[in-house]
Amino acid sequence: MRNKVIAGNWKMNNDLNGTVNLISELKKGVNDQTKATVIVCPPFTSLETAQTLLKDSLIKFGAQNMYFEESGAFTGEISPSMLKSVGCEYVILGHSERRTIFGETDQIINKKIKTAIKHNLKPIFCIGETLEEREKGITFEVCERQVRFGLEGLTEAELSTMIIAYEPVWAIGTGKTATNEQAQEVHAFIRKLVAKLLSENFAQNLVIQYGGSVKPENAKELLAQPDIDGALVGGACLKADSFLKIIDAA
Ligand code: PEP
Repeated sequence: MRNKVIAGNWKMNNDLNGTVNLISELKKGVNDQTKATVIVCPPFTSLETAQTLLKDSLIKFGAQNMYFEESGAFTGEISPSMLKSVGCEYVILGHSERRTIFGETDQIINKKIKTAIKHNLKPIFCIGETLEEREKGITFEVCERQVRFGLEGLTEAELSTMIIAYEPVWAIGTGKTATNEQAQEVHAFIRKLVAKLLSENFAQNLVIQYGGSVKPENAKELLAQPDIDGALVGGACLKADSFLKIIDAA
C-alpha cells in the first residue's frame, strides 16, 4: 500500500512573514489524524525559519531546487549540503519552470538527482509534456525520455526515496487540470516504464504524484485513481485553507 504524499510548491512566494503565517495555519490542520504525508517547499530564504517552525510538527519540508556541485564559483546557486544544514528532507528537481525558464536539460536534472541522493535528500522528480507535445501525440514518448534520462546510472537502492511528480506543463498554473483518465493513463504508463527499467517491486512501491491545477474541487477524484499517489500543488498551496482541504481529500 502506497501512502498518499501531498507536497506544496510555494514557488517564488512568501517572505519570512508570509512563511510564518502560512506554516502556523498549516500546523493547526495537520496532526496525528492526518493520513497523508505532508511536505512544504518554501523558497530558500524561508527554509531555516521553516525548520524552526516545523521542529515538533508532522509536516515535512524541502527545497524547490539545488545545484549539483558541492561548492565553488557558482554565483547564485545553492548546494545540497547547504540544504541539509537547514534540515531539508526533500528537494524538487526538474520542475517544468526550471526546464523551460532556466534551460535545465534532462542531463542536468540527472546530475542533480544523483547529487541529491548522495546527500540523502529525497528527490521529487518532475516530468511532463507540453501542450504542443500532447497535441502531437507524443506524451508517452516525452515522459519516457525524461524518466530514462533522469534515472540513468542510478540503482533501485539509490532511488528508494525518490518520488516522481507527473505534471503536464499545460495544466500548471493554467487552471486546466488533466482529466482523471488522462492523468491515470500517464501514471500507469510511468509505473510500467519504471518496472521495466528497475523492477516490478520497485514500481509498485514508487509514489507518483500528479501536479497541475490541483485544487480542493478536483483533488478527491484525482487522488482516487489507482496510480495517483498524491499531489504536487502550486497555486492552491499558498492558502492554508485550500491546501488543508487537499490534504483532507487524500
Ligand atoms: C506546480 O508548480 O508544481 C504546480 C502544479 O502548480 P499549480 O498547482 O499552480 O498548477
